[in-house]
Amino acid sequence: MSETAKYTRNNPYQATVTVNELLTAEGSEKETRHIELALEEGMHYTPGDAVGILPTNRDEAVEEVLKALGFTGDERVLDHYKVEISFLEALRSRLTIGVLTRGAINQYAKLAPTVEGLKHLSGLDNKARAEEYCYGREFIDLATEFPGVITDPQQMFQVVGRLVPRMYSIASSIALHPGAVQTTVRVVRYDSHSRTRQGVASGHLGERAPVGATMPIFLHGNNNFRLPENPDTPVIMVGPGTGIAPFRSFLEERKATGAKGQNWLFFGEQRKALDFLYQDELEGMVKDGILTHLDTAFSRDQQKKVYVQDRMQEKSAELFEWLERGAHFYVCGDASRMAKDVHTALLDAIAKGSNGTLEHAEAYLNQMKKDKRYQLDVY
Ligand SMILES: Cc1cc2nc3c(=O)[nH]c(=O)nc-3n(C[C@H](O)[C@H](O)[C@H](O)COP(=O)(O)OP(=O)(O)OC[C@H]3O[C@@H](n4cnc5c(N)ncnc54)[C@H](O)[C@@H]3O)c2cc1C
Repeated sequence: MSETAKYTRNNPYQATVTVNELLTAEGSEKETRHIELALEEGMHYTPGDAVGILPTNRDEAVEEVLKALGFTGDERVLDHYKVEISFLEALRSRLTIGVLTRGAINQYAKLAPTVEGLKHLSGLDNKARAEEYCYGREFIDLATEFPGVITDPQQMFQVVGRLVPRMYSIASSIALHPGAVQTTVRVVRYDSHSRTRQGVASGHLGERAPVGATMPIFLHGNNNFRLPENPDTPVIMVGPGTGIAPFRSFLEERKATGAKGQNWLFFGEQRKALDFLYQDELEGMVKDGILTHLDTAFSRDQQKKVYVQDRMQEKSAELFEWLERGAHFYVCGDASRMAKDVHTALLDAIAKGSNGTLEHAEAYLNQMKKDKRYQLDVY
């Protein structure tokens, strides 16, 4: 068994944090961090892979739940493997209390079949209402609004799901950083329903993972997001925000291996002065000739918002010329809007460049997908 396979989500490696730095400047609306973790000798990854990180819930969040349920935390419970642990530990590291799901509401309602408010939120008939209720809420909101339902701490294993790892695209090449894995993490923070909240894993990495701390991690292969086998093949990478992560890994790998293929990166964020992640490194790569083109789109730096897809449109002729030369095209980052807009801009560039119809562009792109020349890592 390889070292990578030795550590899994159920048997993670305790990695030590060696760097945890803010990439965004003060005043930015985002908090994006660069995090480095030390690996055990023999652990290996390939550019395009991700690292799975198992977070723990915040102490304050655990305390709030204990208080709302009326337990001390010293109670004994059996975890998912039937190992006896304290209820405090269960809430800290085993149970999803930071995100509320419809499944949790349904289970909670089963324990209190006579509570009217819960009836209105549970079952298939109330799916939409429950989904709306879940948005921006955590288990504490449910426990506070409908108290007295949990009478035995063990019931929490029935109600809420297991605390699961979060994936982060690897931002480094192991060829340049032996024994290390690096990531680019945006810390999720928001206010909702009169509470200040944070993402479980990104909050953990942002606030409770100083240099020297350990985090349970595992490496997660992704064969659907790979540099071309031929080092001479050009690549076009579109990675706004934390979508930059795997492309930093790609570029480092190409630098380390002396690959001759051309590299073109589209990066976008809100403001150049505050949010240009890895600016010095990327500009250095342009100087060194590693990056043939670096096109940036800072949406809030001018009145009219400009995004990566707009930059693609401006360069559509050259983009098509690269595709015709066999370039591979990669997209990483936001799945909800960005990836769709980039897809449309790409279709447009193909249609314009080939003087063809949209149908022809779609067929061209489908062929690229089949040839593994159009790869996405979106979340
Ligand atoms: C393959 C893959 C690669 C990834 N790579 C990266 C990466 O490189 N960098 C990176 O930062 N992330 C990456 N992610 C996302 C990452 O895995 C986590 O999903 C992210 O960090 C949030 O996790 P969390 O535990 O901090 O938040 P969670 O505790 O899971 O909370 C997130 C939830 O909070 C709620 N929420 C968030 N904002 C609001 C709001 N404004 N209002 C109301 N509710 C809200 C939503 O329900 C949301 O689902 C990747 C994901 C995948 C699948």
